[in-house]
Amino acid sequence: MNFTSHMPLALAEARAAADRGEVPVGAVLVAPGGEVVASAGNRTREYRDPTAHAEILAIRAACIAAGSERLPGHALWVTLEPCPMCAAAISAARIEVLYYGASDPRMGGVSHGARVFDHPQCHHRPQIYEGIDAEAARRLLQSFFQDRR
Ligand SMILES: [Zn+2]
Repeated sequence: MNFTSHMPLALAEARAAADRGEVPVGAVLVAPGGEVVASAGNRTREYRDPTAHAEILAIRAACIAAGSERLPGHALWVTLEPCPMCAAAISAARIEVLYYGASDPRMGGVSHGARVFDHPQCHHRPQIYEGIDAEAARRLLQSFFQDRR
């Protein structure tokens, strides 16, 4: 089995989001066969939509591509620990594997705060791998918020 990290593409989406004035978070969805079916960065400001997180946009696009509201066997790569909303969407979509970069003690909902996947009400918990290219994701966020001050 050959393994490809899709975090570089997720980081490129995060960088593109920063260039648009959005919080730099990027996400990539990979189908069971290994092909990238969706990639997205945050667009909450552009869409005037608080739900337009990178993960949600990628899940929506991948579901349209799959013709299904569920994405079994798919892997999601995200530069930052998903928030509770996105974690719930990941669970609802039945995504098999979640890879994320930086942890987010303030807004995260996987290893922090709501810990969505740890609830008994959570019907589907993906395999989770954290800390992938975390430093690069963190640097992007830090420089973005520094520039805004
Ligand atoms: Zn989110």
